[in-house]
Amino acid sequence: MKWRGRRGSSNIEDRRQSPMRTGGSLGIVGVLLVLGLGYVFGIDVTPFLQGQGLGGQSQIETGELTEADQRVGQFVSVALADTEEIWSDIFRTQVGRPYDPAVLVLFKGVTQSPCGNASGATGPFYCPADRKIYLDTNFFTTLERQMGAGGDFAAAYVVAHEVAHHVQNELGVLGQANRIRAQVSQEQSNQVSVRIELQADCYSGLWARLAQARFGSLERGDIAEAMNAAKQIGDDTIQRNAGQVPRPHTFTHGSSEQRQRWFAKGYETGDVRACDTFSTDQL
Ligand SMILES: [Zn+2]
Repeated sequence: MKWRGRRGSSNIEDRRQSPMRTGGSLGIVGVLLVLGLGYVFGIDVTPFLQGQGLGGQSQIETGELTEADQRVGQFVSVALADTEEIWSDIFRTQVGRPYDPAVLVLFKGVTQSPCGNASGATGPFYCPADRKIYLDTNFFTTLERQMGAGGDFAAAYVVAHEVAHHVQNELGVLGQANRIRAQVSQEQSNQVSVRIELQADCYSGLWARLAQARFGSLERGDIAEAMNAAKQIGDDTIQRNAGQVPRPHTFTHGSSEQRQRWFAKGYETGDVRACDTFSTDQL
Protein backbone atom coordinates (compact mmCIF):
# COMPACT_ATOMS: atom_id res chain seq x y z
CA MET A 1 0.00 0.00 0.00
CA LYS A 2 1.31 3.43 -0.88
CA TRP A 3 1.04 5.33 2.38
CA ARG A 4 4.25 7.24 3.03
CA GLY A 5 3.84 11.00 3.02
CA ARG A 6 0.07 10.77 2.81
CA ARG A 7 -2.45 12.48 5.06
CA GLY A 8 -3.20 10.80 8.36
CA SER A 9 -6.39 10.81 10.41
CA SER A 10 -7.05 13.20 13.29
CA ASN A 11 -9.07 10.47 15.02
CA ILE A 12 -6.13 8.65 16.56
CA GLU A 13 -5.81 8.41 20.34
CA ASP A 14 -2.26 7.29 21.02
CA ARG A 15 -1.94 5.74 24.47
CA ARG A 16 1.39 4.12 23.80
CA GLN A 17 3.54 6.61 25.65
CA SER A 18 1.61 6.40 28.88
CA PRO A 19 1.37 2.69 29.58
CA MET A 20 -1.05 1.69 32.29
CA ARG A 21 1.10 0.15 34.95
CA THR A 22 -1.09 -0.13 38.00
CA GLY A 23 -2.90 -3.21 36.81
CA GLY A 24 0.21 -5.05 35.74
CA SER A 25 -0.26 -8.08 33.56
CA LEU A 26 -3.86 -9.14 33.17
CA GLY A 27 -2.66 -12.41 31.72
CA ILE A 28 -4.98 -14.82 30.02
CA VAL A 29 -7.85 -13.69 32.22
CA GLY A 30 -7.63 -10.23 30.73
CA VAL A 31 -7.58 -11.58 27.22
CA LEU A 32 -10.65 -13.69 27.86
CA LEU A 33 -12.36 -10.83 29.59
CA VAL A 34 -12.30 -8.72 26.51
CA LEU A 35 -12.85 -11.41 23.91
CA GLY A 36 -15.32 -13.44 25.91
CA LEU A 37 -17.90 -10.70 26.18
CA GLY A 38 -19.45 -11.54 22.88
CA TYR A 39 -20.44 -7.96 22.22
CA VAL A 40 -17.00 -6.90 21.24
CA PHE A 41 -16.04 -7.25 17.64
CA GLY A 42 -12.45 -8.26 17.30
CA ILE A 43 -10.11 -10.64 15.68
CA ASP A 44 -10.60 -13.58 18.00
CA VAL A 45 -7.17 -15.02 18.60
CA THR A 46 -8.12 -16.73 21.86
CA PRO A 47 -7.46 -20.32 20.70
CA PHE A 48 -4.26 -19.17 19.13
CA LEU A 49 -3.10 -17.44 22.29
CA GLN A 50 -4.00 -20.46 24.38
CA GLY A 51 -2.24 -22.78 21.97
CA GLN A 52 0.88 -20.67 21.84
CA GLY A 53 0.90 -19.81 25.50
CA LEU A 54 1.11 -16.13 24.64
CA GLY A 55 -1.88 -15.10 26.66
CA GLY A 56 0.00 -14.36 29.83
CA GLN A 57 2.59 -12.19 28.22
CA SER A 58 2.45 -8.58 29.06
CA GLN A 59 4.19 -6.32 26.66
CA ILE A 60 4.25 -3.11 28.60
CA GLU A 61 7.02 -0.99 27.27
CA THR A 62 8.29 2.25 28.61
CA GLY A 63 10.09 5.24 27.25
CA GLU A 64 9.98 6.94 23.92
CA LEU A 65 8.31 5.41 20.95
CA THR A 66 10.79 3.70 18.67
CA GLU A 67 11.06 4.50 15.00
CA ALA A 68 9.15 1.32 14.23
CA ASP A 69 6.40 2.36 16.66
CA GLN A 70 6.11 5.73 14.97
CA ARG A 71 6.04 4.13 11.55
CA VAL A 72 3.24 1.73 12.44
CA GLY A 73 1.32 4.61 14.03
CA GLN A 74 1.62 6.66 10.85
CA PHE A 75 0.61 3.71 8.72
CA VAL A 76 -2.53 3.06 10.78
CA SER A 77 -3.33 6.76 10.70
CA VAL A 78 -3.16 6.89 6.89
CA ALA A 79 -5.21 3.69 6.56
CA LEU A 80 -7.80 5.14 8.94
CA ALA A 81 -7.93 8.41 6.97
CA ASP A 82 -8.52 6.39 3.80
CA THR A 83 -11.47 4.61 5.39
CA GLU A 84 -12.91 7.96 6.52
CA GLU A 85 -12.87 9.32 2.98
CA ILE A 86 -14.37 6.22 1.44
CA TRP A 87 -17.10 5.74 4.03
CA SER A 88 -17.95 9.45 4.00
CA ASP A 89 -18.56 9.09 0.27
CA ILE A 90 -20.67 5.97 0.66
CA PHE A 91 -22.74 7.48 3.46
CA ARG A 92 -23.34 10.66 1.47
CA THR A 93 -24.33 8.90 -1.72
CA GLN A 94 -25.98 5.73 -0.44
CA VAL A 95 -27.11 6.30 3.14
CA GLY A 96 -28.14 9.92 2.88
CA ARG A 97 -26.40 11.26 5.96
CA PRO A 98 -22.87 12.16 7.03
CA TYR A 99 -20.45 9.52 8.26
CA ASP A 100 -19.36 10.05 11.86
CA PRO A 101 -15.93 8.40 12.08
CA ALA A 102 -14.64 6.19 14.88
CA VAL A 103 -11.70 7.02 17.12
CA LEU A 104 -8.84 4.53 16.94
CA VAL A 105 -6.91 3.91 20.16
CA LEU A 106 -3.32 2.77 19.74
CA PHE A 107 -1.96 0.98 22.77
CA LYS A 108 0.83 -1.31 23.78
CA GLY A 109 0.44 -4.06 26.30
CA VAL A 110 -2.51 -3.15 28.50
CA THR A 111 -5.41 -0.77 28.22
CA GLN A 112 -8.95 -0.29 29.46
CA SER A 113 -12.15 0.09 27.50
CA PRO A 114 -15.85 0.10 28.44
CA CYS A 115 -15.91 -3.35 26.79
CA GLY A 116 -13.29 -4.73 29.15
CA ASN A 117 -9.54 -4.69 29.52
CA ALA A 118 -7.12 -5.81 26.90
CA SER A 119 -3.67 -7.25 27.45
CA GLY A 120 -0.98 -9.23 25.76
CA ALA A 121 -1.19 -9.43 22.01
CA THR A 122 -4.98 -9.21 22.14
CA GLY A 123 -6.50 -9.00 18.74
CA PRO A 124 -7.81 -5.58 17.81
CA PHE A 125 -11.44 -4.95 18.61
CA TYR A 126 -14.24 -2.44 18.27
CA CYS A 127 -16.18 -1.37 21.33
CA PRO A 128 -19.65 -0.06 20.42
CA ALA A 129 -20.09 1.49 23.88
CA ASP A 130 -17.53 4.23 23.25
CA ARG A 131 -17.38 3.84 19.46
CA LYS A 132 -13.64 3.25 19.55
CA ILE A 133 -11.34 0.78 17.85
CA TYR A 134 -8.61 -0.65 20.09
CA LEU A 135 -5.39 -1.73 18.45
CA ASP A 136 -2.27 -3.06 20.12
CA THR A 137 0.36 -2.22 17.55
CA ASN A 138 2.31 -5.32 18.57
CA PHE A 139 -0.54 -7.32 17.08
CA PHE A 140 0.82 -6.74 13.59
CA THR A 141 4.02 -8.52 14.64
CA THR A 142 1.97 -11.41 16.03
CA LEU A 143 -0.03 -11.46 12.83
CA GLU A 144 3.08 -11.69 10.71
CA ARG A 145 5.38 -13.87 12.78
CA GLN A 146 3.00 -16.21 14.56
CA MET A 147 -0.05 -16.24 12.34
CA GLY A 148 1.65 -16.13 8.96
CA ALA A 149 -0.12 -13.03 7.69
CA GLY A 150 2.54 -10.50 6.82
CA GLY A 151 2.53 -7.47 4.58
CA ASP A 152 1.26 -3.96 5.03
CA PHE A 153 -2.04 -4.68 3.36
CA ALA A 154 -2.74 -7.48 5.83
CA ALA A 155 -2.50 -4.75 8.47
CA ALA A 156 -4.66 -2.38 6.39
CA TYR A 157 -7.30 -5.10 6.11
CA VAL A 158 -7.34 -5.44 9.90
CA VAL A 159 -7.89 -1.69 10.27
CA ALA A 160 -10.59 -1.70 7.57
CA HIS A 161 -12.31 -4.67 9.24
CA GLU A 162 -12.54 -2.90 12.60
CA VAL A 163 -13.73 0.29 10.91
CA ALA A 164 -16.39 -1.84 9.22
CA HIS A 165 -17.73 -2.76 12.67
CA HIS A 166 -18.07 0.94 13.39
CA VAL A 167 -19.94 1.35 10.10
CA GLN A 168 -22.25 -1.47 11.19
CA ASN A 169 -22.78 0.32 14.48
CA GLU A 170 -23.60 3.58 12.67
CA LEU A 171 -26.08 1.71 10.47
CA GLY A 172 -27.76 0.10 13.48
CA VAL A 173 -26.75 -3.41 12.44
CA LEU A 174 -24.68 -4.11 15.55
CA GLY A 175 -27.40 -3.02 17.94
CA GLN A 176 -29.99 -5.14 16.18
CA ALA A 177 -27.72 -8.16 16.03
CA ASN A 178 -26.82 -7.90 19.71
CA ARG A 179 -30.46 -7.69 20.76
CA ILE A 180 -31.04 -10.96 18.91
CA ARG A 181 -27.90 -12.53 20.33
CA ALA A 182 -29.03 -11.78 23.88
CA GLN A 183 -32.20 -13.84 23.37
CA VAL A 184 -30.92 -17.00 21.71
CA SER A 185 -28.70 -19.96 22.52
CA GLN A 186 -24.92 -19.68 22.46
CA GLU A 187 -24.78 -21.58 19.20
CA GLN A 188 -27.34 -19.32 17.53
CA SER A 189 -25.58 -16.29 18.93
CA ASN A 190 -22.36 -17.52 17.31
CA GLN A 191 -24.16 -17.81 13.98
CA VAL A 192 -25.29 -14.19 14.18
CA SER A 193 -21.74 -13.22 15.08
CA VAL A 194 -20.43 -14.98 11.96
CA ARG A 195 -22.82 -12.93 9.80
CA ILE A 196 -21.60 -9.72 11.44
CA GLU A 197 -17.97 -10.66 10.88
CA LEU A 198 -18.37 -11.77 7.27
CA GLN A 199 -20.17 -8.53 6.49
CA ALA A 200 -17.21 -6.65 8.00
CA ASP A 201 -14.89 -8.65 5.75
CA CYS A 202 -17.04 -7.80 2.73
CA TYR A 203 -16.94 -4.11 3.70
CA SER A 204 -13.15 -4.39 3.95
CA GLY A 205 -12.97 -5.69 0.40
CA LEU A 206 -15.30 -2.93 -0.72
CA TRP A 207 -13.04 -0.38 0.93
CA ALA A 208 -9.96 -1.84 -0.78
CA ARG A 209 -11.58 -1.45 -4.17
CA LEU A 210 -12.83 2.08 -3.62
CA ALA A 211 -9.52 3.17 -2.04
CA GLN A 212 -7.70 1.92 -5.11
CA ALA A 213 -10.15 3.73 -7.40
CA ARG A 214 -9.79 6.96 -5.48
CA PHE A 215 -6.18 7.06 -4.34
CA GLY A 216 -4.49 4.45 -6.53
CA SER A 217 -2.95 3.30 -3.26
CA LEU A 218 -2.77 -0.43 -3.87
CA GLU A 219 0.44 -2.11 -4.91
CA ARG A 220 1.06 -5.45 -6.55
CA GLY A 221 0.43 -8.22 -4.05
CA ASP A 222 -1.75 -6.14 -1.69
CA ILE A 223 -4.96 -8.02 -2.35
CA ALA A 224 -3.10 -11.32 -2.00
CA GLU A 225 -1.85 -10.13 1.41
CA ALA A 226 -5.38 -9.31 2.54
CA MET A 227 -6.73 -12.61 1.22
CA ASN A 228 -3.98 -14.50 3.01
CA ALA A 229 -4.76 -12.64 6.25
CA ALA A 230 -8.47 -13.49 5.85
CA LYS A 231 -7.42 -17.12 5.54
CA GLN A 232 -5.06 -17.09 8.53
CA ILE A 233 -7.67 -15.58 10.86
CA GLY A 234 -10.47 -17.94 9.81
CA ASP A 235 -11.85 -19.82 12.82
CA ASP A 236 -11.02 -23.25 11.41
CA THR A 237 -7.43 -22.29 10.66
CA ILE A 238 -6.93 -20.65 14.06
CA GLN A 239 -8.33 -23.69 15.86
CA ARG A 240 -6.27 -26.07 13.73
CA ASN A 241 -3.10 -24.07 14.36
CA ALA A 242 -3.83 -24.26 18.07
CA GLY A 243 -3.85 -28.05 17.78
CA GLN A 244 -7.62 -28.36 17.92
CA VAL A 245 -10.08 -30.07 15.63
CA PRO A 246 -12.24 -27.29 14.15
CA ARG A 247 -15.69 -27.15 15.75
CA PRO A 248 -17.97 -25.15 13.43
CA HIS A 249 -20.64 -24.55 16.09
CA THR A 250 -18.06 -22.55 18.06
CA PHE A 251 -17.11 -20.34 15.11
CA THR A 252 -17.76 -16.66 15.71
CA HIS A 253 -15.99 -15.15 12.69
CA GLY A 254 -16.37 -17.68 9.89
CA SER A 255 -14.10 -20.19 8.23
CA SER A 256 -11.06 -19.20 6.19
CA GLU A 257 -12.93 -19.98 2.99
CA GLN A 258 -15.89 -17.81 4.02
CA ARG A 259 -13.75 -14.88 5.13
CA GLN A 260 -11.81 -14.91 1.87
CA ARG A 261 -14.95 -15.25 -0.22
CA TRP A 262 -16.74 -12.33 1.46
CA PHE A 263 -13.69 -10.09 1.26
CA ALA A 264 -13.44 -10.95 -2.44
CA LYS A 265 -17.14 -10.28 -2.92
CA GLY A 266 -16.81 -6.75 -1.56
CA TYR A 267 -13.69 -6.16 -3.61
CA GLU A 268 -15.14 -7.49 -6.84
CA THR A 269 -18.57 -5.86 -6.67
CA GLY A 270 -17.74 -2.55 -4.98
CA ASP A 271 -21.38 -2.56 -3.92
CA VAL A 272 -22.57 -2.25 -0.31
CA ARG A 273 -25.71 -4.22 -1.11
CA ALA A 274 -23.61 -7.25 -2.11
CA CYS A 275 -22.46 -7.40 1.53
CA ASP A 276 -25.86 -8.31 2.97
CA THR A 277 -24.83 -11.39 4.95
CA PHE A 278 -28.05 -11.31 6.96
CA SER A 279 -30.50 -12.24 4.25
CA THR A 280 -28.62 -14.99 2.48
CA ASP A 281 -28.55 -18.75 2.88
CA GLN A 282 -25.19 -18.83 1.16
CA LEU A 283 -22.82 -17.78 3.89
ZN1 LIG B 1 -14.57 -8.44 13.54
